Amino acid sequence: MKNTKLSVNDISQKLLAGDVVALSRAITLIESKKNTDQKLADRLLKKIVPHTGHSLRIGITGSPGVGKSTFIEAFGKHITSLGKKVAVLAIDPSSAKTKGSILGDRTRMEELSKDAKAFIRPTATGTSLGGVADKTRETILLCEAAGFEIIIVETVGVGQSETAVRNMVDFFLLLQLAGAGDELQGIKKGIMEMADAIVITKADGENEKKAKQAQTEFFQALHLFQPSTSAWQPKVLTTSALQKKGIEEVWKMIQSFQLHTAKNGFFNKNREQQKLEWFHESIQLQLKERFFKSKKEVAKMKSLEKKIVNGEMIPSKAAEEFVLSSIRKR
Ligand code: GDP
Repeated sequence: MKNTKLSVNDISQKLLAGDVVALSRAITLIESKKNTDQKLADRLLKKIVPHTGHSLRIGITGSPGVGKSTFIEAFGKHITSLGKKVAVLAIDPSSAKTKGSILGDRTRMEELSKDAKAFIRPTATGTSLGGVADKTRETILLCEAAGFEIIIVETVGVGQSETAVRNMVDFFLLLQLAGAGDELQGIKKGIMEMADAIVITKADGENEKKAKQAQTEFFQALHLFQPSTSAWQPKVLTTSALQKKGIEEVWKMIQSFQLHTAKNGFFNKNREQQKLEWFHESIQLQLKERFFKSKKEVAKMKSLEKKIVNGEMIPSKAAEEFVLSSIRKR
């Protein structure tokens, strides 16, 4: 007992001093499914929570191949060149199934991963997006306690993960490729509506002109949306991460967003709202996890599923029976 107490103290002390080995160990602890590790993780989180919240959290999404890792590397290097520490985390919905992560991989951002002011962590894996999101939120807090001023949460532009990331960051950036005039078709309106800015990638060489055209089109499209509660007018910029063009402008734009939303109170209000959302989502998640833990409940569910399929019960009533019988057993 004494030893574990010591080690939590040890990890938290080192983590608060900015030690990235301790940070990695802490993240491994919170991601662990072992009961003993979870208890240690709880104690660790309690210790570090007063030191959290001071970063700027940026979400970045875009389809595979759009240039996310190249952009994040160039953007991250720009941030560290300003003397700031940057952490890159990732949510990859496919990794829950494959257990391997295509995102956050060190080899994808080789230069940034060698930077002493940068920390790159591969995707947390889990059985559900909710579970992965939960752990990513905790990881954000750990990174903040370790002194990271800018936290980038990356996700791939498929599935539900955008909404999950949007709900845990201050600023949400959509990376988009300039196509042959059909930019607006391949992209879901919902994702565009969530974006505080769209960055057209690979605006170099032959692509530069197309990128400028896309910039105008996206800008016009964004104007059609309802103004967001932040009263921030979403921006559209073009970059070439390969040629390091437009990167500084993206950083400046994000800073002006921060200033704008700090002034009008949105920044803090949004953070409060996100904490409450996390609380409510976490309740649902934990209820689900706890309900489905016992073999009896799984068996009960299977038998109800049969009845539903056979037309003996309607799903809502079967759900009611399942929940009530589970509660009664407790
Ligand atoms: P991701 O899958 O979204 O992470 O995309 P990557 O960053 O791996 O980039 C996909 C491909 O686009 C790679 O071959 C990159 O070299 C290329 N690429 C990325 N950024 C740029 C850029 O700014 N200009 C050009 N011309 N190519 C780029």
